[in-house]
Amino acid sequence: MLVSSADDIDVERESRTEKDHEYFETLDEVFNAYTWRSLFSLMNKGVVDQILGPLSQGKEARVILAKDRKGVYIALKIYYTTTSTFIKSRYKYIMGDPRFKNKKIKKDIIDIVEAWSRKEFGNLSAAYRAGVKAPRPIAVERNVLAMEFIGEGNRPAPTLNDLGVDGLDDPDEVFWEILRNVERTYVLAKLVHADLSEFNILYHNGDIRIIDWGSAVKREHPLAFGYLARDLDNVFRFFGVGLEGRRVARLIAERAGE
Ligand code: ATP
Repeated sequence: MLVSSADDIDVERESRTEKDHEYFETLDEVFNAYTWRSLFSLMNKGVVDQILGPLSQGKEARVILAKDRKGVYIALKIYYTTTSTFIKSRYKYIMGDPRFKNKKIKKDIIDIVEAWSRKEFGNLSAAYRAGVKAPRPIAVERNVLAMEFIGEGNRPAPTLNDLGVDGLDDPDEVFWEILRNVERTYVLAKLVHADLSEFNILYHNGDIRIIDWGSAVKREHPLAFGYLARDLDNVFRFFGVGLEGRRVARLIAERAGE
């Protein structure tokens, strides 16, 4: 019998938590060094010249302001390695995994984070190439994605959520521009953003830029149509438009010849 009384369970739980805590601290040190190496690498490649400071701290990544060699502002999205909710939700499986003992786990976490950064860079690049209004992708180095900075001076552009519909110069035009970009993403980039909402659309000089492409899926993905409808519903809700995401998604799919 592994556990003989309720007390044993608590002791077991406590030592487990302590062990996990120590383990996280060790991992944090390793991964901080790893992130710095990614940044130095971007500096050596001439992509980054100066690192200036944080722009935002999200659930999966932090975005920081930097300058390239020409003194132009750029944005660096740095995927967390240990504190990410994405990784944390997997820790409980990872912790019980016997491979943890042979330290393979460090590599596994790095692989997941790097795959995620590469995926966002690939999606952003495909969208940008198709003419979708998104920040210009610059480079990806392990867990760091470098892209065009959208903003005025060193101030990032606000999101639609920051402004609200009333804060837009021409809400109708912004609404139709978003729809054109959703269609372009589907028909030309053959992608669905899958996390589109007022939080992921920046408003700059009367125009839009769609950010946060990490969750985007290919058109062939089995859930792509549902994601497209959900993205559209988010836009309709924000603008208070009485349209149905699924119906408009069907029209867009028809335009793509489906
Ligand atoms: P969240 O967890 O909040 O969804 P995230 O970690 O997925 O965030 P993003 O949504 O890509 O990260 O970016 C977070 C914030 O960083 C944006 O709301 C915006 O303020 C800023 N930001 C991201 N990319 C850029 C950019 N290219 N130019 C200017 N600001 C940017």
